[in-house]
Amino acid sequence: MTDLHHTLLTLDSHIDIPWPDRQDAWTEDTPRQVNVPKTRKGGLKAVCLAAYIPQGSRDDAGHAEGWDRVQGMLDVISGIEGRQGNHSACVCRTAADVRAAYEAGDLAVIPAIENGHGLGGQPERIAELARRYGVRYMTLTHNGHNALADAAIPRKDLADAETLHGGLSELGREAIAHMNRSGVLVDVSHAAKSTMMQASEISATPVFASHSCARALCDHPRNLDDEQLDRLKETGGLIQVTAMGSFLKKGGGGTVEDLVRHVSYIANRIGVEHVGISSDFDGGGGIPGWKDATETANVTHALQAAGFTDAEISAIWGGNMLRLLETAEKATTVL
Ligand SMILES: [Zn+2]
Repeated sequence: MTDLHHTLLTLDSHIDIPWPDRQDAWTEDTPRQVNVPKTRKGGLKAVCLAAYIPQGSRDDAGHAEGWDRVQGMLDVISGIEGRQGNHSACVCRTAADVRAAYEAGDLAVIPAIENGHGLGGQPERIAELARRYGVRYMTLTHNGHNALADAAIPRKDLADAETLHGGLSELGREAIAHMNRSGVLVDVSHAAKSTMMQASEISATPVFASHSCARALCDHPRNLDDEQLDRLKETGGLIQVTAMGSFLKKGGGGTVEDLVRHVSYIANRIGVEHVGISSDFDGGGGIPGWKDATETANVTHALQAAGFTDAEISAIWGGNMLRLLETAEKATTVL
């Protein structure tokens, strides 16, 4: 019997890249959890690679730094395109590109941004980043409030109060309008609940959480509660359960079985078409059973053990995310 895993277009919606760049995306034996050979070995076919911008000061200097760094990291992500030996990778701008890369046996790379601080306080820049790099989603915040929105976890070291804007700022609302027009999905992972609820109301395209879990199973501020899950269902959004031990199990130590427990909970509550998978590899993710990209088949096997059908597993592993990307593409009015 063929292993279902090897027939799937598996898409991991949140992976970080090491920074500064070590130029080791193609090197077999490096400590990073995801590189091109490791995805091949683990049957991981598509990866959203995030340009992560640490939250800095919300002034001109902090904004200039964020804007520099986002371009530097997106240059590195774009640079992964190519072929070395038996391996090949293709930077994808559309869901159709991802499917074509999969058919060709190339790793599909989807560029993303983690933290709207990278726009340097100028929301219209998202159109430029979408055009230059094919960026397909951006988290509104990371940890710490930024000029666009309140975060789920304020940064005391940056003198954050519990809230700054009460959700989205005016700039954040503008950013969402620009993102909608440019086909860039609004990612609410890391955002405060107020931010998430407001974003889901004003965004023309459904919002999604690229790497979060269910708060009903693990009370962590980075997770989405039932009201937020219900909002995703109402609006056609998506939550990509992530392999972060402390989001999966109170006190930490979550395993691949816990990850599937969160997927099952969400599928039961809001429907299997609203849930997917992410690792947060090279950004703190990795759990017993799925410690790096080479172990990706274990996730499929755990989903099978939990009773999901082949079609459901295919949707969870990428079908849902590709559908959402297509929805965003149809709403695009610039590019
Ligand atoms: Zn993150």
